[in-house]
Amino acid sequence: MEYVRNPIMCVIPPYMLDSIVEKGAGKARAAALKAIKQSNHLRIQRSAIQERPRGDYEVLVSGITAHTCKITRRVYDAEHSEDLPGSHARGEGDPPVKDPCVDEAYDGAGDTWGLYHDVYGRCSIDDRGMVIDQTVHFGEEFDNAFWNGEQMVYGDGDGELFARFTMDLDIIAHELTHGVTQYEAALRYWYQSGALNESFSDVFASLVKQYKLHQDVKKADWLIGANVLIGEEYALRSMKAPGTAFQGHPVIGDDPQPATMDDYQELPPWQDNGGVHINSGIPNQAFYLAAMEIGGYAWEKTGLIWYRTLCDKLGKDANFVRAAMATILVAKEEYGSGSLEEKAVQKAWKDVKVL
Ligand SMILES: [Zn+2]
Repeated sequence: MEYVRNPIMCVIPPYMLDSIVEKGAGKARAAALKAIKQSNHLRIQRSAIQERPRGDYEVLVSGITAHTCKITRRVYDAEHSEDLPGSHARGEGDPPVKDPCVDEAYDGAGDTWGLYHDVYGRCSIDDRGMVIDQTVHFGEEFDNAFWNGEQMVYGDGDGELFARFTMDLDIIAHELTHGVTQYEAALRYWYQSGALNESFSDVFASLVKQYKLHQDVKKADWLIGANVLIGEEYALRSMKAPGTAFQGHPVIGDDPQPATMDDYQELPPWQDNGGVHINSGIPNQAFYLAAMEIGGYAWEKTGLIWYRTLCDKLGKDANFVRAAMATILVAKEEYGSGSLEEKAVQKAWKDVKVL
């Protein structure tokens, strides 16, 4: 049960890698095989991290008081090894270093920190000014990016199916949000609580991108990982239309995400931790529908409802119904009983058949 107790939050779900091993060839297949092996190895490393005494965390907290909140980023270069964190590549306030991976990780963490700070008043991942540590060039052509409970890690991708994982701002924001969730609802990474964990990461990933690009709900593409998965028409996930993100991909197959409970997939824990990257399509679709109904900039009202739900209303074993009830309650608290916002959120969860 190692895979459930010590999760590494990877952006590329196991079923995509399995499909590449089955249908792919050459370099891409070799890279996928290696990514599967590596993630097993990483889980073992992760369990060692969790066993560390709590005091080790102190080095990550930068002595911030309640009145000041400053961003502190550190980007490291693993130089294609698997040693973390690697050698120091860029610190806070340093000029660009002309390695796109280093600079994209630095800027992406800044954009993510910015949405959480400027819109929701949050001070970094832990809300206590935690230093944001990120490592790039992890492994050889590593086909994944992950949050390991302490820091972000990005592979370079194999170059055939996957590009470098820092290329999409939403991937960076998705992974950093796993950190936020860890310090808030701490949603257990399996079954419905795990799918909610994944969904909150996609929601705030998309919001970071929309905030940066100043896009309203109609302009946003609602895609996650549109650049990382190579090919114009492909992305890793679509919140607007779950199940269509990489439809017809010759190697990865079809996107298995359901949009409503009618297609909910009951999976055993050894398959994607019970479908955390699959059934997350349902709460993703609920957020999208609520945001479209409420309109405007999604990070303002709909985002605030989801943010407050994540921080104040959910426990680690929350399921979809609980998340639905909690978001409706927050909408009521924020915007009033019978408000457009409350009705929109309620309708969204009904449309995806959670309620
Ligand atoms: Zn994730």
